[in-house]
Amino acid sequence: MDDGRIARVLPLTTTRALRGSFDYLIPAGVTVDVGTLVDIPFAHRRMLGVVSGTAPDSDVPPERLATIAAVHDSSLPGDLVDLAEWVASEYCSTTARALALMLPPGAGRSAPARPTLTAALTPAGEVALAGETRLSAGQHAALARLAADGPTPARAIGTSLLRRLEQRGLVTIAAASVRRDPRRHTVSSAAADAPPLTVGQQVALSAVTDCIRTGAHAELLLSGVTGSGKTEVYLAAAAATLAAGRGVIILVPEIGLTAQARARFEARLGAVVAVLHSGLTAAERAEEWRRVRSGEARVAIGARSAVFAPVDDLGLIVIDEEHESSYKHEGDPRYDARLVAARRARYFSAVMLSGSATPRPESVATQRTLTMPSRVDGRPLPRVEILDMRGRHHPLHPEARAALAEVRRSGAKAVVLLNRRGWSNFLSCADCGRVWSCPNCDVSLILHRAGGPAHVACHHCGHSEPAPCRCPDCGSVSVARHGAGTEALEQELLAVVGADPGFPVLRLDADSPGHEARARTLAAFHAAPAGVLVGTQMIAKGHDFADVSLGIVLDADQTLRFPDFRAEERTFALLTQLAGRTGRGAGGDGRVLVQTRAPAARPILLAARHDSVGFLAGELGRRAGLRYPPYSTLIRVICSSPEPEPAQRVATALRAAIGDAPDRYRVLGPAPLFRLRNRHRSQLQIRAADRGGAISAVRAAVDALVHARALTRVAVSVDVDPQ
Ligand code: ADP
Ligand code: ZN
Ligand code: ZN
Repeated sequence: MDDGRIARVLPLTTTRALRGSFDYLIPAGVTVDVGTLVDIPFAHRRMLGVVSGTAPDSDVPPERLATIAAVHDSSLPGDLVDLAEWVASEYCSTTARALALMLPPGAGRSAPARPTLTAALTPAGEVALAGETRLSAGQHAALARLAADGPTPARAIGTSLLRRLEQRGLVTIAAASVRRDPRRHTVSSAAADAPPLTVGQQVALSAVTDCIRTGAHAELLLSGVTGSGKTEVYLAAAAATLAAGRGVIILVPEIGLTAQARARFEARLGAVVAVLHSGLTAAERAEEWRRVRSGEARVAIGARSAVFAPVDDLGLIVIDEEHESSYKHEGDPRYDARLVAARRARYFSAVMLSGSATPRPESVATQRTLTMPSRVDGRPLPRVEILDMRGRHHPLHPEARAALAEVRRSGAKAVVLLNRRGWSNFLSCADCGRVWSCPNCDVSLILHRAGGPAHVACHHCGHSEPAPCRCPDCGSVSVARHGAGTEALEQELLAVVGADPGFPVLRLDADSPGHEARARTLAAFHAAPAGVLVGTQMIAKGHDFADVSLGIVLDADQTLRFPDFRAEERTFALLTQLAGRTGRGAGGDGRVLVQTRAPAARPILLAARHDSVGFLAGELGRRAGLRYPPYSTLIRVICSSPEPEPAQRVATALRAAIGDAPDRYRVLGPAPLFRLRNRHRSQLQIRAADRGGAISAVRAAVDALVHARALTRVAVSVDVDPQ
């Protein structure tokens, strides 16, 4: 038989029971390769599939093999097929589900036509071919072919090989149908716009460019205080990577930050930039994906999922604000974009550059740290004062009220953070003690008064009902409200500063519907000469406000009370990030007030001293003692079902199947979790010294239950490195 008569195809089915690839005959006259998208007959349907390999022969007799029905125009690069298999095994998922994250947008519907990139020889290329220039055998062959055949489709020769020749001016590469964008060649001249770098930036950058120059794989952590100018380092590193002829991925923690990132990278690097995220229309996403895949765009920017951008010959992956939990995906496969980035960087022998003012202990332990300890403008970090709230009942400390009044008098700006949205976080009957809770989840309902009639809502499932006037159980009209949220705080602040259009009080939290409403609020705060922005942790994220002279955090120990080993890290990060929003620009030195009932808690004390190094050292010590990550791997398995019994039974069966291997991993549970969206839940927690061994054991146990059809009415979710 001919070589490559059989294609191994991964069908894009969501069924967990069907794993691995299936053999198909390749129709005569058709070529397929790893990554080619094909339509195949599968389980009596026509289904999209991805070719994972070709072979001369199959174990299945030829008369029982089906034939590929159609070959799509677009294809995945081979490295992404390999990556999908890795994601599937690392996160106990299936290759099909992992591939679904990587497919060109709209794949499976009509495949958009792909303009072909065409390479042509330049006069310098002709000279080089005549023997004046050093060329590798591959480069020589490519130039010789262009000389003989004239302009040739780039993929017929190899796009990354041609890109290197293009860098040397020996060939041109252009979309046959599209005129070449002149900005492509302005990379170096546009770089003149870069400000002269500070010493800190220079030192960090040269560590990065050393790695880029040698082409060695490296994982670098840019640990720089807020305002130290990390973005300039990313920009310069990206420019250096492009100059070396390689591609770049830039990850930002949320979609709302992509537009700003795109503007900065495009201004510096020219039109080589594409943006990939779910906020674009399907057509826009398809076009941006195609630009990256074809090599027209060499820099892909986006949130978490852009880590799968089909960038050829990847040289650099930047992860901005690497501490953000949004890099973890909350659906199957529950991948962590930071780990996927590390894997891709290793594959391409590329540089991964993570950056944060509050890096994770995990990153500090595993990456080479580059430090930028001072702000670009030389300003000190703001003074942080801790206000003890024990024995106090008013939500704002007198000092905080006085500071707000002072901001009001001087016409400055303040941000106030309270990590609790709504008006009150629970209601109870003062007479019989009834608590208003969600009918679908075991949680209390939150009172909301802003945005329409007052109502109580569940923040987990979205259940909502009118706010009660009386208790349905005992008829009492005294319904007590507990725990003020951002809505109540907004009113409280209005009472302190007074209603005045010249000094607006704006609120930003997840209740502001959609990205646009949040962007409008942020823009209004930016534009206002003075005012207060109150909100949840959202206000501490990545936004660069000039002129904020006061920051206030209410209930700073709230995040500490979470039963989670990351509670300390989260608290430290939140306070440090909020402080970072304060005292930039011309508004004088900043001041931050931290209200707490735990004034002696380590993360709060160390954040007040801006002591990131001390915090990380202590935190790593604590985690080493308790065998928490990075000194172990955690895996969480949650079984859920409409009744309590099946979830509990499956969790118990899984526990038995996973077994215990004390020197490699330990299993805790099953433990009941609170009911969520009408599903009862039971959890196992695995703490492993042997990551790979524990993942395999969990996967084998889940697969065995799937094959035994033991999972009717029970859903099992496996989360490796849960957040
Ligand atoms: P970080 O991300 O580290 O908090 P940014 O990258 O947002 O800091 O930089 C803070 C501010 O300093 C930005 O407005 C940026 O344009 C400016 N900046 C950065 N580097 C320089 C420099 N070398 N000279 C002058 N301004 C700079
Ligand atoms: Zn009652
Ligand atoms: Zn609910």
